[in-house]
Amino acid sequence: RRRTRAGSGSPQRPAGMEGMQQVVGRARAAFGSGRCRPLEFRMQQLKNLERMVREKEEEIAAALRADLHKSGHNAYTHEILTVLGELALVMEKLPSWAAPQPVKKNLLTMRDEAYIYPEPLGVVLVIGAWNYPFVLVMQPLIGAIAAGNAVVVKPSEVSEHMSQLIADILPQYLDQELYPVVTGGVPETTELLTQRFDHILYTGNSAVGKIVMAAAAKHLTPVTLELGGKSPCYIDKNCDLAVACRRVTWGKYVNCGQTCLAPDYVLCEPSIQSQVVEYIKANLQEFYGEDVKKSPDYERIINKRHFRRIVSLLEGQKIAHGGETDEASCFIAPTVLTDVSPESKVMEEEIFGPVLPILSVKGVDEAIEFINSREKPLALYVFSNDKKVIKRVISETSSGGVTVNDVIMHFFLPTLPFGGVGNSGMGTYHGKHSFETFSHRRACLIKDLKLEGLNKFRYMPNSQKKVDW
Ligand code: NAD
Repeated sequence: RRRTRAGSGSPQRPAGMEGMQQVVGRARAAFGSGRCRPLEFRMQQLKNLERMVREKEEEIAAALRADLHKSGHNAYTHEILTVLGELALVMEKLPSWAAPQPVKKNLLTMRDEAYIYPEPLGVVLVIGAWNYPFVLVMQPLIGAIAAGNAVVVKPSEVSEHMSQLIADILPQYLDQELYPVVTGGVPETTELLTQRFDHILYTGNSAVGKIVMAAAAKHLTPVTLELGGKSPCYIDKNCDLAVACRRVTWGKYVNCGQTCLAPDYVLCEPSIQSQVVEYIKANLQEFYGEDVKKSPDYERIINKRHFRRIVSLLEGQKIAHGGETDEASCFIAPTVLTDVSPESKVMEEEIFGPVLPILSVKGVDEAIEFINSREKPLALYVFSNDKKVIKRVISETSSGGVTVNDVIMHFFLPTLPFGGVGNSGMGTYHGKHSFETFSHRRACLIKDLKLEGLNKFRYMPNSQKKVDW
């Protein structure tokens, strides 16, 4: 049985209710001490985190290579840079975000002070997923620290090297009681979820999202659920197909398709389907060379369970490109499927692998109808030169976010809230949105004890007063 660790600075504790209770209890006591509230403390912890990322860059890249076969360049641009960018933004803006915000007053409160005071929620639980195992733990952690909370960090056990690395290095840089790391799998997470938290941010699939929300409901704990779904990509025939396909190829096959924001499938008119396939093939050759298996830039599927799941989606499909697989190395070549039926297995669940089905629609009306007949996705993509088509797709459908004429890029603009809607999740984070997610906006009205005469109208007895409503 796996063992639960609360940071390398602490002795190993056996997994179990008692272990979890102790970890969360210590975090709560540390929060209660009030030491994580002052702005200087939060800034210091964030600085320490930045130092950790810079000093442990090689170890982080090595863990990503071991878990996902990620190249050094991809590790740096996908995960390390994203975290450093978030840290720089938060450290620059935190003093203004954390300051009380005065609000407009009315006649009754003209002489008073009225402001919103952002206060920490308490002890936050962050549960990460394995596909971008560093960024998906660190980015929520940054927001939760910035807002002044204690944070219990639970990396995904599926990306085991990163999980262990985070448990080893985080306590070397951060306050160990305020920010413990819990490793382990489903039994440990299940036990952790019996504890009382003040907020839970969970990243992962929708089925587990429901488990997390049910556990949180027992304590009336608010949740942010960062889930997935089948993100559609409509390619209008009125667009620069070469550029569109280049961007789609990048977004679909980066990280071997294991990206929550990857375009899951393409909708287009039958007349452009073969051109789309040809452009994607050419882009793949350019990106990964003749033999994709030898490319240092192409990742692998995380484990055999996911490998088999994805391979089973290819059964009975028309493979226009790719299709080669190797179970021993969890390799699946970038694959394109054409003339895919909406009823086929590959169109049921999120693919989360390097397989791109192309489905025929007659035009934008049918594309909108198709998208609306399914669960609300995490992202939606539309490629078109026609502003009316773009406007219609945005106003007549729903999704967590949208990028037009590109894929994934809305993730990288921190002024945009990042999150899903409906089956793809609830709540948002990134930049200031993280700070708000992990803060309570406390309403504060500060009066003095003067001019008591003005309050006459609200004191009893009232029955004799004439009020003109
Ligand atoms: P996963 O298997 O790593 O699970 C995520 C976490 O849930 C882990 O820490 C795991 O310990 C815990 N967990 C798993 N089963 C549990 C259970 N029965 N009870 C309690 N806890 C449990 O990740 P995954 O779910 O395979 O991740 C892939 C999914 O995540 C995809 O759907 C993807 O789209 C989505 N995702 C979303 C985002 C986003 O930001 N919205 C980012 C990445 C991934």
